Amino acid sequence: MLIKDLELIEKLSKRNEDKNWRFRSYLKMQEGKEIDLLVKPIYEFVKKNIDCLECGNCCRKLRPIILKGNPCIFLNGNKCEIYKSRPNDCKSFPHLQKRGFTTRLIGIIEYSMICPIVFNVFEELKIAMKFR
Ligand code: SF4
Ligand code: SF4
Repeated sequence: MLIKDLELIEKLSKRNEDKNWRFRSYLKMQEGKEIDLLVKPIYEFVKKNIDCLECGNCCRKLRPIILKGNPCIFLNGNKCEIYKSRPNDCKSFPHLQKRGFTTRLIGIIEYSMICPIVFNVFEELKIAMKFR
């Protein structure tokens, strides 16, 4: 079951911190292309089942490189007022569709604390790899 509650995600991420760093070390020892193949269907499943319009947390907590301050000035409720012309950084967030998952693990652990998509992909990947 996917977890979407932002407070719970933050709490669980803090509780899992040691395990997440151990998992990072474990992933670094794996073949990067194999991990990308594992991540792809997990990401697609999670993304399909989490509605960013019910969240908007990245726009409140993070900031794309060309914009200043957060929450973002273009955020209205959970909606982006410049959605069609939003920066590329916003379009590709949380970047899990890109190759090289194992090369971005520090950011992934950081984003897992605030983004339900990243949190759930990381947790599902642990399950898929039987990591304890
Ligand atoms: S520009 Fe839009 S998508 Fe990007 S951070 Fe601001 S509100 Fe979010
Ligand atoms: S990308 Fe993540 S943090 Fe941003 S709105 Fe979607 S689920 Fe929330």
